Amino acid sequence: KITVVGSINMDLVTISNKVPKMGETLLGQDFLSNPGGKGANQAVAAARLGADVKMVGAVGNDTFGKDLLRTLEKEKIDVSAVEEVDGASGTATILVSQGDNSIIVVPGANEQVTPDFVERHKDAIKDSDYVLLQLEIPVESVEKAVQIAKENDVKVILNPAPIQKLSDALLANVDYLTPNEHELELLVEGRDKKAILEKVIVTKGSEGLIYYEDGQEVSVPAFSVEVKDTTGAGDTFNGAFATALSEGKSLKEACLFGNAAGALSTTKLGAQAGMPKKEAVQNLVEK
Ligand code: ADP
Repeated sequence: KITVVGSINMDLVTISNKVPKMGETLLGQDFLSNPGGKGANQAVAAARLGADVKMVGAVGNDTFGKDLLRTLEKEKIDVSAVEEVDGASGTATILVSQGDNSIIVVPGANEQVTPDFVERHKDAIKDSDYVLLQLEIPVESVEKAVQIAKENDVKVILNPAPIQKLSDALLANVDYLTPNEHELELLVEGRDKKAILEKVIVTKGSEGLIYYEDGQEVSVPAFSVEVKDTTGAGDTFNGAFATALSEGKSLKEACLFGNAAGALSTTKLGAQAGMPKKEAVQNLVEK
């Protein structure tokens, strides 16, 4: 059983040939609203791979909130610990132009996932085998969730994204850290690298990933696939990695499973829309 404590957002994607200057109005080409947020994405990735997933988080009392809840329910995720709070749902407003993008994230309801909020839902954490966390809710709430997990012998996976400064106490209580290369650099800055690396799995995009075993770096090359859209690859890796571990698989097996799931997610458009099912991932792993 996996509990994800994290963000739930609506991604509002506008596709335009030109980027407007401040004060300017343009006619764009296309618009999409896609359910997102690292927390929700990782929950969906895990659920689609057959894991028993519970989400702890908040949506706003706007129409996005209702849509976001329904999306999670459709994926068979337990949403009994998702609260509908006053105010706006979290949003990411994304402008895509000529293959590049600019993004504004407004946390909205995710900011109301406070340490007290997490405390209210501590049974969700207690009742699980793994807690999966990211950094799109207040860091004090992540600390709270990790503390509850630790007190109850629940394993913790932290995907440190978007990266920010983290306390030594927090990192000491995390079992697995899943940064990308850029996040790893900031994570080890000014720290005993050895202690951190023991728990790290570094995702490296088209280069696959590396993990450490008995102090030795193990490199796992990426599966060769026809890449359409890499959005959500990291989230898919995390959901898949947690799923495999919760099924009792070894670190090595979980890395391979995550590596295959991440690769498959890039072959389809969209974050949640491109997340694979279990059979497809298993077929790729066994290839
Ligand atoms: P993030 O989006 O968090 O930066 P990555 O880009 O490192 O995460 O991708 C996560 C994982 O997804 C990688 O470790 C790899 O397993 C898989 N992946 C990502 N991009 C590709 C790609 N181009 N080809 C194959 N696998 C990929």
